[in-house]
Amino acid sequence: MSDLRFRAVEKAFNKKAVNFEQPNQRPDQYFAVKVFDREKMKRYLPAKVYDSIIDVIDNGKHLDRNIADAVAEGMRIWASEHGVTHYTHWFQPLTGGTAEKHESFIEYNGKGGVMESFSGKVLVQQEPDASSFPNGGIRNTFEARGYTAWDASSPVFIIDDTLCIPTIFISYTGESLDYKAPLLRSLRAINKAAVDVCRFFDPEVKQVKAFLGIEQEYFLVDADLCIARPDLLTTGRTLLGLESAKNQQLDDHYFGSIPQRVISFMAELEIRALKLGIPLKTRHNEAAPGQFELAPIYEECNLAVDHNMLIMSLMQTVAAEHGFRVLLHEKPFRGINGSGKHCNWSLGTDKGSLLFAPGKNESENLRFLTFVVNTLKAVHRHNGLLKASIMSATNTHRLGAAEAPPAIISAFLGTQLSSMLDSLEQSAELASGKGKQGLQFNIPQIPEILVDNTDRNRTSPFAFTGNRFEFRAVGSEANCACSMIVLNTAVAEQLTDFKADVQAKVKAEGLSLQDAVLEVVRTYISECKDIRFEGNGYSEEWKAEAARRGLDCENSAPLLFDRYLAEDSIKMFEAMDVMTRKELYARNEVKWDTYTKKIQIEARVLGDMAMNQVIPVAKQYQTKLLDSIHRMQQVFDAAEASQLTAENLSIVREISKHCSKASEGVEAMVEARKKANRIESERLKAIAYHDEVEYCFEQIRYHLDKLEYLVDDRMWILPKYRELLNI
Ligand code: ADP
Ligand code: MG
Repeated sequence: MSDLRFRAVEKAFNKKAVNFEQPNQRPDQYFAVKVFDREKMKRYLPAKVYDSIIDVIDNGKHLDRNIADAVAEGMRIWASEHGVTHYTHWFQPLTGGTAEKHESFIEYNGKGGVMESFSGKVLVQQEPDASSFPNGGIRNTFEARGYTAWDASSPVFIIDDTLCIPTIFISYTGESLDYKAPLLRSLRAINKAAVDVCRFFDPEVKQVKAFLGIEQEYFLVDADLCIARPDLLTTGRTLLGLESAKNQQLDDHYFGSIPQRVISFMAELEIRALKLGIPLKTRHNEAAPGQFELAPIYEECNLAVDHNMLIMSLMQTVAAEHGFRVLLHEKPFRGINGSGKHCNWSLGTDKGSLLFAPGKNESENLRFLTFVVNTLKAVHRHNGLLKASIMSATNTHRLGAAEAPPAIISAFLGTQLSSMLDSLEQSAELASGKGKQGLQFNIPQIPEILVDNTDRNRTSPFAFTGNRFEFRAVGSEANCACSMIVLNTAVAEQLTDFKADVQAKVKAEGLSLQDAVLEVVRTYISECKDIRFEGNGYSEEWKAEAARRGLDCENSAPLLFDRYLAEDSIKMFEAMDVMTRKELYARNEVKWDTYTKKIQIEARVLGDMAMNQVIPVAKQYQTKLLDSIHRMQQVFDAAEASQLTAENLSIVREISKHCSKASEGVEAMVEARKKANRIESERLKAIAYHDEVEYCFEQIRYHLDKLEYLVDDRMWILPKYRELLNI
């Protein structure tokens, strides 16, 4: 074994669980200590200021300048008690991840020294010189500045010595350049549309919120092994590597006992997350070796997204202290499961009802059916766009592989709910609109057990799970705001149309409101039937069937991004006041550009590993074999020597063949890259990267993996799958 690999493996296998400082308090005492939440606001702000800021948070009231000053001062005092010296506007640019630029609180005090101060003005708005953030051509360089503006609905928090202020990021001309601004707009849209529909059933409903519980899957690999793998280090996935003899075939990892080193990492992560107000609740082993999952208790959608962004970066920090690297990539290893970010999404009213939970009486059950069916209809109408929202250069490796949700969006309801919708659809009384009697007769009692009884169809990308939908196709690395924007907006649009359809029916046919609701729901059930699929989403038959049903079956990420620019998508985003045509066009430029860059980086790393690591080692081994053949020929007579060296000779030939095929592949890939780089249009360039550059990876990998199989294990310098996955 090569020295480097040997040392890394030895180091990794000898590592013990890291002891970290345990808090001497219980979780309820340290929960959110690092968050300026309502309780701290109450303590640190004058009563009048407190009332005003709560009004801003809860009711979206305008933030008065004087109030902002007082809030900022209260925040600064609280933060300084935690040793904080800096502040930053924390935002979510389109590159992925989060961005921050730290400023200290110091100002000249006019007497030759400094003092600490923090004004409402800097709390509320900043103008970072953000010309290097992607903007898709919205900003010209002369107006390179973007604005960050405080999102008061997400509380500020402390990381190390810095006060972090969640903000939106917009251009000089007001277009959004981040994920948060359109997410907030989509939440506003769904609130409005859902409240209107709720009032058909209960006129007192004032607010509807979207909730989100995110299950985050990830891999842990030992940091020393990771460093010896340029592909993992740079791209987050292995670009080559022979599958390990044992991977997940025994299913012995899923829910298995968690290794000590990992438990220690998880425990510290949880404590630090709780201090940041992130309610982490669940931790377990996932299906693949080295794969795990965490999940907080669900929260309001905007906060859940912020917390997920925060947890992804916290995971990296804590992992480093425990000698690990976290792999958030959707498909770090071939042959074993990839990782997703299951988004459990629901809607709830200010009166505490969950709109996807079966009710206690007829009216509540009709409301339940209304919201479920409208969601299905929205998913049906925009299934291509929803798929585009989860698509990326990285998630594309997971989707469609026979493990994760397939690259076709369908919805799973479970047998109970499914047959309920079927019988509603077929019910003849309703068809003739028999009024009250029909209603009583036909709104099915929805059994309580439904919540616990939802079948677990793991192959469905969008599954009803009792009182929520679980969007499973979202990638583990993604900012899931991207998909939540589309989902919220699509459902908002659908509910808006529903309201109009019901009102039109009442007017035209003189039906009672309830009957009209039921009639429209019934029509919708048949119109969006094609989105429902209860079978095995991995099967080949489903692909054919889905195509017959007219569902979006496109697989290429750059082509899928076109769905954002389809007229019905633009119309939806504009009507719901979530994104303008201009914003959508700009964002797509960023999507294509990011796609291209990711493939470009992978191509470079793959070429580099092939030419500088794998092929040279293979050649060394080949030379060793040739030496031995040569010696045999000196010792034995020709006939015997030829017999004894036959095996080695054939390995030498194999190595030669795979080395030259691999380097030919690299050459072709470099040529394809050069050609693609000359293309001006971001869209066409991304398509070329998909069709021509990435297309070469498979061939190259094939030959490199053959070499891994042939070359003496002791000479191989890259940590192997069995070592990477054994933690
Ligand atoms: P699973 O059994 O699907 O793996 P987990 O317990 O791992 O479930 O995670 C389920 C997630 O769904 C958690 O984050 C949980 O808080 C969240 N959740 C539960 N109920 C709702 C709801 N009504 N709306 C949104 N999220 C919810
Ligand atoms: Mg889970």
